[in-house]
Amino acid sequence: MTVWIERELCNGCKRCIQACPYGAIELEDGKARILERCTGCGACLAVCKQEAVKSDLRPREIPDFSDRSGVWVFAEQRGGVLHPVSLELLGKARELAEALGQEVAALLLGDGVGALAETLVRHGAEKVFLGEDPVLKNYRSLPYTDVIENLIEKHKPNVLLMGATHVGRDLAPRVSRRVGVGLTADCTELEIDPGERILLQTRPAFGGNVMATIANRFSRPQMATVRPGVMEAREIPRNQGEVIPFPVDLSENEAGTVVLEVVKEERQRVDLSQARVIVAGGRGVGDRAGFEVLEELAGLLGGVTAGTRVAVEEGWIGADRQVGQTGQSVRPELYIACGISGAIQHRAGMMNARYIVAVNKDPRAPIFQVADWGIVGDLRDVVPQMIEQLKSRQPS
Ligand code: FAD
Repeated sequence: MTVWIERELCNGCKRCIQACPYGAIELEDGKARILERCTGCGACLAVCKQEAVKSDLRPREIPDFSDRSGVWVFAEQRGGVLHPVSLELLGKARELAEALGQEVAALLLGDGVGALAETLVRHGAEKVFLGEDPVLKNYRSLPYTDVIENLIEKHKPNVLLMGATHVGRDLAPRVSRRVGVGLTADCTELEIDPGERILLQTRPAFGGNVMATIANRFSRPQMATVRPGVMEAREIPRNQGEVIPFPVDLSENEAGTVVLEVVKEERQRVDLSQARVIVAGGRGVGDRAGFEVLEELAGLLGGVTAGTRVAVEEGWIGADRQVGQTGQSVRPELYIACGISGAIQHRAGMMNARYIVAVNKDPRAPIFQVADWGIVGDLRDVVPQMIEQLKSRQPS
């Protein structure tokens, strides 16, 4: 693309110079001049009020998506049990669909899983596409991708959401590649732009230092994954939904892999996304013994302990209890943050807590910006006092 300046129109305002990310415009005799290092990125075009910057760039045409309709959720199930993220995504899908004036549909794949459709309808699905076949009994990449690709080609949804679970992280990129669309992974917020009526997908970027909002103007469906615990499941008791069974035309030979046995690992993994009370600790807790005090507090409140990445790296708490961008996302009623500075990567995982209490000896700690109640003090004094208070209120 070539960019040039119509000198007689240019008034030397320098807006284009400021907008150019490559330093490729300078002022010469009071008029803008394009230098050789111009990459043709076009950033200067929109800012020129005199319309003095010209180019041979043709704006990319937005295709006609008027035949695209519906906000779809992949309803993940394992062994006939729905993953909670499926219901959480339906809650968000309902909101998006209302903003668009479109329907919410769930994709339920498996073998003998039809009874789950009722739960999906109760959580907001207006249609449930039900694909049942022995080939789909256990999740396998190829058959699931094939089935979803065919459904997308046939019904042309506008939006497709999946959980950022182990399954979703495998399936979503495969589906997006097959149907030739982009995918925004690990979104923390989804909303419809009221003007353009497209999906705004927000997620941490650049190592979590900024929140980026991504929009897809040129392809459909708009695809995003969301981690468990980020969105909120909502029951809509009187919701009416239609179950649409469809034939699955796949043979075992096309599956690519054979599941010989499903082995469930016996792990005492705490599902933090379902915890109602979380007492979390950071570097300020100091050592493993400090976490034992937090455990006592969590126990009195009927909750569990969690930690920052620092606490995990120090070995004070297991990696499965890390909250944040690279840990779990949580949505408890109460989150007590002890000795946690409140780095953006940690906040990304706990911002959806209903109430946040922060204990930190530094009054300028960023955690206080998101806390509902802040206690400035040494946690070694404050936490034992909380424990004492709670114990004194317990019936003897
Ligand atoms: P610090 O930032 O060191 O804060 C310790 C706090 O304790 C301070 O505010 C201090 O005032 C206070 N304190 C000290 N002593 C006491 C005391 N006696 N009483 C009261 N307060 C006290 N972090 C996560 O947590 N989760 C993630 O998922 C995550 N993912 C990341 C991903 C990337 C790509 C990157 C780059 C970083 C990630 N991090 C994550 C790390 C994150 O940036 C921070 O480094 C980390 O959250 C800081 O942990 P902290 O609050 O425990 O420690």
